[in-house]
Amino acid sequence: MIVGVLALQGGIEEHVKALEALGVQTRKVRVPKDLDGLDGIVIPGGESTVMDKLARTFCVAEPLAALIREGLPVFATCAGLIYLAQKLENPARGQQTLGVLDVVVRRNAFGTQRESFDTTVDVAWDGASFEGVQASFIRAPIVTECGAVQAIGVLKTGEVVGVRQGNIVALSFHPEETGDYRIHQAWLDLIGKQAELAI
Ligand code: GLN
Repeated sequence: MIVGVLALQGGIEEHVKALEALGVQTRKVRVPKDLDGLDGIVIPGGESTVMDKLARTFCVAEPLAALIREGLPVFATCAGLIYLAQKLENPARGQQTLGVLDVVVRRNAFGTQRESFDTTVDVAWDGASFEGVQASFIRAPIVTECGAVQAIGVLKTGEVVGVRQGNIVALSFHPEETGDYRIHQAWLDLIGKQAELAI
């Protein structure tokens, strides 16, 4: 199994470290040819406006969106969730997204960098359930409207901070920053199950 990490900007190394700790081969993705033959891709946190600009500059945005529409599994955190969303409540001027995840997202929903916080989140979907996932919220977004997705993580205050749409798992927060790799593992298990079904 080879899992790509979109490596344009942001918390790339943290995801590479997480995936390697779980025994998975990784490849940094910057240009279209890096997408060849991947079993899944991680879209890290960072700054979604910069990620968008660089992805268009390197011509990787369109082929990436096409592959995801065809079923390429994705695990996204924070800016990654923003970048996947069909619609942003508060996009920056000219900001584009891949538009492959059926949600509306509000960027910076908890305020500025100074209002960042760590907490625990319970995350669950059919066949997987994790209590108290260690989560860093850094200028984090929230999901304000869910289309054909399942809410898999909700804060005690009611905000939706995790969604799943088939093999897309997207979180507002960063488990890769805290070393709690249970969601990475669960997403890898989802991909593995899909590969078995395809055989
Ligand atoms: N607020 C950032 C954005 O709009 C996301 C922050 C993060 O990924 N930690 O892209």
